[in-house]
Amino acid sequence: LIASLESVEQSYVMIKPDGVQRGLVGEIITRFEKKGFVLKGLKLFQCPQELAEEHYKDLKSKSFFPKLIEYITSGPVVCMAWEGVGVVLAARKLIGSTNPLQAEPGTIRGDLAVQTGRNVIHGSDSPDNGQREIGLWFNEVELCQWIPAQRPWLYE
Ligand code: ADP
Ligand code: MG
Repeated sequence: LIASLESVEQSYVMIKPDGVQRGLVGEIITRFEKKGFVLKGLKLFQCPQELAEEHYKDLKSKSFFPKLIEYITSGPVVCMAWEGVGVVLAARKLIGSTNPLQAEPGTIRGDLAVQTGRNVIHGSDSPDNGQREIGLWFNEVELCQWIPAQRPWLYE
């Protein structure tokens, strides 16, 4: 069924240390589950410096890069691999704008965050980056292949 749909993608979504510290893990996961995405990988993880730098390597030249690395490594994060039709763009919409003050109400950042430097969550910006980031943060054995029971009711 779903295998024939071209737009099945995977996104790497991560609850940042502030989201974990503030007890927002359940609420955030619930939003992705309710939308209809399928969880393929999930773990609580203390990110080492080198991984944070590799993940955000495109931002290396930015003035905020050192503070960003300090932020992401400051406490455990929740790493998730979500799969679904159009999941990359849809996850970005659920997450909202990078600056939480510009994020729409109803989005995760719009509802739950204030500052760009504490914006509680990451989501991949393209399907290619989704694959790249899932490969960075997860080992193959940590990703589960499974079919959710409600799938025939989610996709026509
Ligand atoms: P997004 O997470 O929405 O894809 P970016 O890829 O532009 O945003 O930036 C990655 C992360 O770097 C942001 O989520 C935020 O944590 C941090 N960041 C971006 N811009 C700034 C900034 N001007 N000051 C502080 N932190 C920033
Ligand atoms: Mg980004």
